[in-house]
Amino acid sequence: MPSGRAMREQEMMATIDHFVYMDHAATTPVDPRVVDAMLPYFTEQYGNPSSVYRFASGARQALDESRKKVADILGCRPTEIIFTSCGTESDNLALRGVTLAQRERGKHIITTPIEHSAVGVTCEQLAKYLGYRVTYVEVDRQGLVDPDAVGRAITDETTLISIMYANNEVGTIEPIAEIGQIAREKGIPFHTDAVQAGGSLDLDVNRLQVDLLSLSGHKFYAPKGVGVLYVRQGTPLLPTQTGGGQERHLRGGTENVPYIVGLATALELAYQDVDTEQERLTDLRNRLILGVLGNVPGAQLTGHPHQRLPNNASFVFPGIEGESILLRLDLARVAASTGSACASGENGPSHVLTALGIEPTLARGSLRLTLGRHTTAEEVDYVVSVLATTVPELRAMSPL
Ligand code: PLP
Repeated sequence: MPSGRAMREQEMMATIDHFVYMDHAATTPVDPRVVDAMLPYFTEQYGNPSSVYRFASGARQALDESRKKVADILGCRPTEIIFTSCGTESDNLALRGVTLAQRERGKHIITTPIEHSAVGVTCEQLAKYLGYRVTYVEVDRQGLVDPDAVGRAITDETTLISIMYANNEVGTIEPIAEIGQIAREKGIPFHTDAVQAGGSLDLDVNRLQVDLLSLSGHKFYAPKGVGVLYVRQGTPLLPTQTGGGQERHLRGGTENVPYIVGLATALELAYQDVDTEQERLTDLRNRLILGVLGNVPGAQLTGHPHQRLPNNASFVFPGIEGESILLRLDLARVAASTGSACASGENGPSHVLTALGIEPTLARGSLRLTLGRHTTAEEVDYVVSVLATTVPELRAMSPL
């Protein structure tokens, strides 16, 4: 990536002939191989996996095989996998299911202030309506949780620790195995929201020392609307969606066979060449970070400089609104986000950036660029060049 004057000359010429998608943390396209794997389960093998006749055995077998594929990647037993409708449902089931199952034992939850709202709002609700006490363990300026601080927050009343694997806005990867070790020593169930980590980071639940782990298919090239909750055998869990006896009575509802097949296929594909792909993405991400920091005046990186998701580059730009950058990027045919797509209803600056100690006015100028399987160096350079022109222009016009 050239810098300074060369960059400014180049940016005048920067064009690209296609739409540039840099919002893979929001969602990913479905891999055509995943679609192919799913198709027969809509129109041919459409039996209900719970039915006893032979016609349904194809669907039942697909469900069993998918469960085994996911379990192999997580290093667990197939019986420890619960298929859900999304990452949000997995988080909700983990939080409500584990705390309510132990309500006689205590009513204290430990989490962080940077969780996705699927965890954050669920904790708030448990506190407001059911009298739970929630401790939010602080994170540092780079978004890291200190495992010892988690240990210090544990009381006799603690019945769940929930800390995300990787943050969806700034990409910081938390020391999950160290926290897991502490939780295990104290016998407290430990949940991690691994929705952003799925498809790129190690998901082995024994190395991570977690008891519950949430995943969402649409973050790793499976469709939206299908998720996983891993629950270690022996972990107390009250089902929150009651009905039929599906998913070992832990999550009622006819299984969404085509989507489950899609999720398992996509996860398997992602881990087939995970090292090579993550190395490629890390190089592109570093090119993007260096390009932005070197060519966009005032740009600051948010999150950890290297302990971060291989595809996440997130910034703040003083003196500008993130929303106005998004509009300009959109005009330049680039899709990006200010932070979490799901928090776009949030009023004011992001709760994640505020928890990192970034002052609210600065946090308003946030931008998250997240790369994916089809991102190229040419696209990265194009986005840098667009930002290098756009940001100073917007700053000159901004009332901030
Ligand atoms: N947790 C995290 C960290 C996320 O980033 C998201 C979605 O962006 C979710 C949970 C919710 O997942 P879903 O969209 O599948 O409900």
